[in-house]
Amino acid sequence: MATSTETAARPGAHELAPALPRDSALDERGRLQIGGCDAIELAREHGTPAYVVAEEDLRALARAYVRAGRETAGHEHFDVVFAAKAFPCTAALALFAREGLWCDVASGGELHLALNAGFVPERIVLHGNAKSLAELSMALERGVGLIAIDNFDEISRLQGLVGDRVQNVLVRVTPDVRGDTHDHISTGQADSKFGFGMDEAGEAIARIEQVPGLRLAGLHAHIGSQLLELDPFRREVAELARLGSFEVWDLGGGVGVRYVSDQPEPPSTAAYVQALVDAAGEHGMGPGSGARLLVEPGRSLTANAGVTLYTVESVKQNVSRWVAVDGGMSDNLRPMLYDARYEAHVADRLGGSTPCVLAGKHCESGDVIVREALLDDPRAGDVIVTPATGAYGYAMSSNYNGVTRPPVIFCRDGHARVVVRRETFADLTSRDVS
Ligand code: PLP
Repeated sequence: MATSTETAARPGAHELAPALPRDSALDERGRLQIGGCDAIELAREHGTPAYVVAEEDLRALARAYVRAGRETAGHEHFDVVFAAKAFPCTAALALFAREGLWCDVASGGELHLALNAGFVPERIVLHGNAKSLAELSMALERGVGLIAIDNFDEISRLQGLVGDRVQNVLVRVTPDVRGDTHDHISTGQADSKFGFGMDEAGEAIARIEQVPGLRLAGLHAHIGSQLLELDPFRREVAELARLGSFEVWDLGGGVGVRYVSDQPEPPSTAAYVQALVDAAGEHGMGPGSGARLLVEPGRSLTANAGVTLYTVESVKQNVSRWVAVDGGMSDNLRPMLYDARYEAHVADRLGGSTPCVLAGKHCESGDVIVREALLDDPRAGDVIVTPATGAYGYAMSSNYNGVTRPPVIFCRDGHARVVVRRETFADLTSRDVS
């Protein structure tokens, strides 16, 4: 172990790369440790690519959210609903269920995963702009706490399915608030595929109130993702409040996180939650009002807890220096889908100044994980780490080019536990029936 003097003299993992998990460090040799586990040893033992998660970060982030709403901002009916789509991994879902969080699901499959991981049905919110009859029936039969109704067809469908049950529902509203983010993850603008426009929400509310088995609990909105400013969230609350007074206000997720060192600082969990609670207070849903406030964070609970480890397979120089690794768009689609930026490091030589393109192994020119990476003279065999891959990487992974999906490894106090095994070639043919 490094002595405290040595540690003080050498920059820590966070100074070099603030997007890494909080529970990460450099050892005396300058090698990255995640949850007390050596990244290069993990790569050697479990192979690459691998998703590595600092388990304590997940727990600490969940607790920080709950504390920010209930204690710091003082809202007694504040609950945190984990957006399962960000990291639908049973071990993470189970951890959040044990922490007392709720869960947001957007399909029958996610509902299955949430129930299987231990969420009680009353703490599950079902979303989706194209819920099937089967998904709605499943939600009703399993007794989910809230269904966020997205469109008029869904009201008719639920009316036909609800029978003699009483189902609590929300109306999903697109409040025409546009945050500064990529078009593909902006959802609150008027021309969105999600929810009712402000001009239709009143009619939706009136129609739901006509259906005996549907109980209108409140409103839901989610204006977009990776938002680094708080003002759009305040505007969202103000818009929703124009629609009346309700018991439940589900304000969605969307607060941004740190992906790269040279980006604007994301709001802290405490600042984000305080802004929402303050805005709620200005519109009669604050502490003491009796209203229930829900927030639905996805990426801000998991992104920075996770990293991906890769191995360099080849390095070539033409106009650029191409560093090709053993994964890519099959384990992290976000750079290709939204031009998302990541950074990369050699796991035993963080930092560096060699401009490189970190490319994946897939047969697509667009399969580039980091366009402008600065690495320390990378060579074949080096282990590369990309920070902040804990959200939407695993969720959107695929078998493109017959690549098997990586394992998920939870690390804590120096112990690594594989919570999802690596896929095998046999898995690739396991669904074939002829
Ligand atoms: N809630 C809803 C309805 C969403 O659609 C999403 C993301 O798409 C989220 C919550 C989570 O968003 P984020 O991961 O940006 O916090």
